[in-house]
Amino acid sequence: MLTFSVLTLFPELLRPFAEEALLGKAQARGLVRVNLHDLRQWSGNRHHKVDDTPYGGGAGMVIRVDVVARALDALRAEAPIDEVVMLTPAGQTFTQASAEAWATQGGHWVILCGRYEGFDARVERLVTREVSIGDFVMMGGEAAAACIMEAVARLVPGVLGDEASHQDDSFSSGLLDYPEYTRPPVWADEGVPDVLQGGNHGAIREWRRSQALARTLDRRPDLLPHAGLMPQDSAELLR
Ligand code: SAM
Repeated sequence: MLTFSVLTLFPELLRPFAEEALLGKAQARGLVRVNLHDLRQWSGNRHHKVDDTPYGGGAGMVIRVDVVARALDALRAEAPIDEVVMLTPAGQTFTQASAEAWATQGGHWVILCGRYEGFDARVERLVTREVSIGDFVMMGGEAAAACIMEAVARLVPGVLGDEASHQDDSFSSGLLDYPEYTRPPVWADEGVPDVLQGGNHGAIREWRRSQALARTLDRRPDLLPHAGLMPQDSAELLR
């Protein structure tokens, strides 16, 4: 089973992500497991302090390497660990391709959420991956852990109700998703495209592909060179 063990100073921030909605259901059905651990348990001092001032001076506090090492030893004593991920803006950017690879690999993933100025540089020796969720800096790693767990867990077979439902998602096919509509058929003078109401599945498939191509060309042309386009797509793009 895919298991995430998250080491954080704020486990309660992540509890709703782990226990509500589809991730909660996936846990209840034994498809995914999320363990939340308070890093302070391994502080080694009665004040539960896990950080200290940076050598060389400067603002902020740094999370100690010995605390992280004790935490990982304790988790490893309970169950083998396959990957240890440090969340950091300086890591490799997490993408849909990463989510697919992690879901396929499965196993036990420990995720380290930083706070303050982040981790002592020597924590790098304890991890198998350094991961960022984008070129911006947040106050802590918990929101990044939530993003990653949501993106990976939904790809585990059985987690989504309809297995096909993630295959057309943005990025899965290399393109952005096509636009979707539901009732009412007309809202504020804008109707649902006729083709979607006609029941011709071939025509619907073609329309959706052309919309996905047009949207990607308009909004994210940088994706097109890697999108695995089909010969008939070029004609669509040149229209
Ligand atoms: N001083 C660090 C730097 O500039 O790289 C930033 C530390 S940040 C304020 C505190 C923690 O938030 C980091 O240790 C990391 O765990 C998390 N974090 C912030 N932005 C992130 C991002 N884009 N991706 C992943 N984790 C992030």
